[in-house]
Amino acid sequence: MSLAERYGAAKAKIASAALAAGRRADEVTLIVVTKNHPAQLALDLLDLGARDFGENRDQEAGPKSTEVRSLSPVEHRWHFIGQLQSNKVKSVLSYAASIHSLDRLSLLDALGKATVERPNPVDVFIQLNLTDDQGRGGIQPSGLVEFAESVLTKPGLNLVGVMGVAALDHQLERDFGAIRSASELLQTIAPQAKAISAGMSEDFETAIAFGATHVRIGSAITGNRRY
Ligand SMILES: *Cc1c(COP(=O)(O)O)cnc(C)c1O
Repeated sequence: MSLAERYGAAKAKIASAALAAGRRADEVTLIVVTKNHPAQLALDLLDLGARDFGENRDQEAGPKSTEVRSLSPVEHRWHFIGQLQSNKVKSVLSYAASIHSLDRLSLLDALGKATVERPNPVDVFIQLNLTDDQGRGGIQPSGLVEFAESVLTKPGLNLVGVMGVAALDHQLERDFGAIRSASELLQTIAPQAKAISAGMSEDFETAIAFGATHVRIGSAITGNRRY
């Protein structure tokens, strides 16, 4: 399959999964994860109609997003979806429209400080830890409300919702159900924070059935990552 065919197939599956869940196709934003691919791939995807791109490493995303912007006049957005070190915050804020991986207090403090004087706040998703292992990245559902209250005190951050990754044991209903419950809990204190960033190449249709508003699809569209 060509890139155009893979992109088209993913768009069609998103639309049918949304309709099957009683939702509109345009309620789900497709973020194409372009990590480990050159800028040209994002340019090709822009030609196909993609407008949202995901990256997980600042060292790669910084130069790539600069290159794409310099070569294409088409408006588009970069989403930072990987673990973010506090010393990379300034750089990431220079190109990212949203950060899906707000996963700890020290990062919240760094983001809060770096955005205090921004004219328009940056969109952030709180990344959930769906395991019992506190040492893992992410906020456990039991600590979500307290953490979200801190996010809401930062004028430069616009809390849009939660983000999660299903575990490798493939209990998709359990994990996407837990993400949806966390989203409902979050909305009790932040009614506007309705977004759910969940679902990757292997599981995005199930994620949409459980309410995902942002799917992060890499290899199913881009093919195998080259480096
Ligand atoms: C790489 C990555 C994706 C995309 O994964 P695929 O399986 O290639 O679709 C989605 N989310 C995050 C956080 C990632 O790091």
